[in-house]
Amino acid sequence: MKIETIPQEGYEKLVKCQDPESGLRAVIAVHDTTLGPALGGLRMWPYGSWDDAIFDVLRLSKGMTYKSAVADTGLGGGKSVIIGNSKTDKSEALFRAMGRFVDSLGGKYITAEDVGTSVEDMVNVRKETKYVTGLPLELGSSGDPSPWTALGTFLGIKACLGEVFGSESFEGRTVAIQGCGHVGAFLAEHLAKAGAKLILADIAPERARAVAAASGGTVRDASSILDVECDVLAPCALGAVVNDETLPNFRTKIIAGAANNVLLREDHGLRLKEAGILYAPDYVINAGGIINVSIEVEGAYDEARSRTKVENIYDALKRIFEISKAEDIPTNGAANRLAKERLSQPARS
Ligand code: NAD
Repeated sequence: MKIETIPQEGYEKLVKCQDPESGLRAVIAVHDTTLGPALGGLRMWPYGSWDDAIFDVLRLSKGMTYKSAVADTGLGGGKSVIIGNSKTDKSEALFRAMGRFVDSLGGKYITAEDVGTSVEDMVNVRKETKYVTGLPLELGSSGDPSPWTALGTFLGIKACLGEVFGSESFEGRTVAIQGCGHVGAFLAEHLAKAGAKLILADIAPERARAVAAASGGTVRDASSILDVECDVLAPCALGAVVNDETLPNFRTKIIAGAANNVLLREDHGLRLKEAGILYAPDYVINAGGIINVSIEVEGAYDEARSRTKVENIYDALKRIFEISKAEDIPTNGAANRLAKERLSQPARS
């Protein structure tokens, strides 16, 4: 096993992990532990180079710091990435080696599932370290984060409706969901129950059809979902949905979904504001999953406590909309300000 610390300004720790025996090549980034141990998922992705992996882990770990600060989880921000193909390169030895690297940080970093990793992978990580969450429910864990992310997103959309339309009712409102995977499907269920009309799209069209069959709604081609006329556009697929190309074509009043890094650049938040589109900052509205995991980290997992904390996402967004209006700044800027405030006053958070 080879572990190498790379100095990185603004980050507490960046470590390059190599284990020739299992073939593991990974990077762990601990961005900030002011508010607690750095928690963030383990992503497995076929990065083209070490530099690509490092770029991603730095960006993602900082996002986790802000997400946890606003959600008041008592956690800091971190993330890890494995360079590899999640379909062909997985083995028990690989994840056990990753577990040993996580363990070597002594609890400064706690890992979990992310894109390309699963509950089974976390079970293998657990064989080497206790600093892992997202294990099966029967092991006393908090289980799949997606329903919690979907619940928080649903409540966040409700806050947005109140802000834009003066009524939080979903009756007759049209919500377009891009991405009908784990979160998208649970979100559709909440929205349908509340009376919203759904427009659904997925690059795997059978997923959109399955969600439409379960929750109602019409299916659109994935290539045109961002341009549909709707009250709410809910990105629940990948990031960078708001960019120079997509911005002029939006026909929605609200952008509020579970996807991470929805804005390609921070200044796209200002462009949305200028276009009269209310944006629910991604790391605030999609914090349900991390909130649920934080309850597990606190001690014995308590579902009722998790629900109460996830419900606070509604209040956090209301607060952000207030700051945005009072100071005439975009909502993403208001969220960043709130996160920085909490980080500078750890005792009060
Ligand atoms: P997922 O992989 O289960 O679902 C994503 C879906 O999006 C897939 O069905 C995929 O086919 C589809 N998709 C990909 N590109 C698309 C495109 N261009 N157009 C339409 N559909 C497309 O992932 P998930 O767990 O549901 O997460 C969705 C998003 O929410 C991701 O950005 C993730 O990072 C974010 N997120 C998830 C959680 C969670 O608890 N799962 C928490 C926070 C943030």
